[in-house]
Amino acid sequence: MAILITGGCGYIGSHTCIEMIKAGYDIVVLDNYYNSKPEALNRTRELAGKDFPFYECDIRDAEGLRRIFKENKIEAVIHFAGLKAVGESVQIPLKYYDNNVNGTVVLCQVMAEMGCKRMIFSSSATVYGEKNPSPLTEDMEIGGCTNPYGRTKFMIEGILSDLCVSDPEWSVVLLRYFNPIGAHESGRIGEDPNGIPNNLMPYVSQVAIGKLARLSIFGDDYDTPDGTGVRDFIHVVDLARGHVKATDYALAHTGAEAVNLGTGTGYSVLDLVNAFKEANGVDVPYVIVDRRPGDLGAVYSDPSKAASLLGWKAEKGLEDMCRDSWRWQSQNPKGYAE
Ligand code: NAD
Ligand code: UDP
Repeated sequence: MAILITGGCGYIGSHTCIEMIKAGYDIVVLDNYYNSKPEALNRTRELAGKDFPFYECDIRDAEGLRRIFKENKIEAVIHFAGLKAVGESVQIPLKYYDNNVNGTVVLCQVMAEMGCKRMIFSSSATVYGEKNPSPLTEDMEIGGCTNPYGRTKFMIEGILSDLCVSDPEWSVVLLRYFNPIGAHESGRIGEDPNGIPNNLMPYVSQVAIGKLARLSIFGDDYDTPDGTGVRDFIHVVDLARGHVKATDYALAHTGAEAVNLGTGTGYSVLDLVNAFKEANGVDVPYVIVDRRPGDLGAVYSDPSKAASLLGWKAEKGLEDMCRDSWRWQSQNPKGYAE
């Protein structure tokens, strides 16, 4: 029996493939390469030390999915495939609803048809919306998302929960990620954003390598210790290991569970910039600018449910995250393009 990993060539998916294989699972990977490259798959195979089947397929292609389920014995799906650019989702919302929401519906329909009813889904802290105070706990009411991307995650959580109510054979773990950063410690795989990065860590590392002139820090007047935004940064390898534990759980239980994957510790934007400089001995020039519309002051998790339900806890600290991000960036200044 194998676990199907959709979006397995992407940033979090590629790290998860390696951790799943290390934990003894057989995997099958699907990706349409919309936001990833074949080189990521080559390197993932090399680091995993074991080959696995790969299908270039879109999750909205029901026939393509059926073929994967017919050719492999799939017992659960880890579902990463989705579009994730918040700003773009405001410009082209239908593309996001089609890819993320419709894509998940098609995937679930084929799964049900093929008798595979276990899914680990990539949700996000964004489903907590603007009103809930941190630390965020899974029993808080979700919704009130500020953009279409966030709404796709909110809607999919609802769809998957409805599915579990309608059919008690379904098992779903909704993993709410906080801020994944860092890279595999080999420096061979990592985050490879297209164009100018939107997220903090890829921006910081591209400034450090000289590709971008300086970081703009969005606001220093938040109600936080140094005024800059506070986030719950989590090492992508810790996050990947959370998927191994969630898969173990989903194979042994039914019903829907939402689980935060974070460290529970908030660091500010300036904390991260200073830790990056310190860990790597590089400079990161920055300038303070206005707040970015839609940003919140402090967002961090209460990670205790992941510990009690899944037996998972983040192990890596901010220094590891900064060091590993820099190793990836400095060894691959052009990402996978070389
Ligand atoms: P990513 O873009 O690196 O990986 C997603 C992968 O899915 C890509 O390889 C892409 O080609 C593939 N894909 C997209 N649409 C597809 C489709 N229709 N059919 C097949 N493949 C498709 O993103 P990531 O950072 O690894 O994120 C993985 C998941 O986690 C996403 O669902 C994302 O929304 C979610 N998430 C990410 C973060 C983050 O900060 N990175 C935070 C919270 C949630
Ligand atoms: N941020 C910043 N400059 C950047 C990118 C991000 O100051 O170029 C800040 C942002 O305002 C937030 C934090 O860094 O406080 C994390 O932002 P990111 O986009 O990485 O993740 P988010 O929490 O918004 O999903």
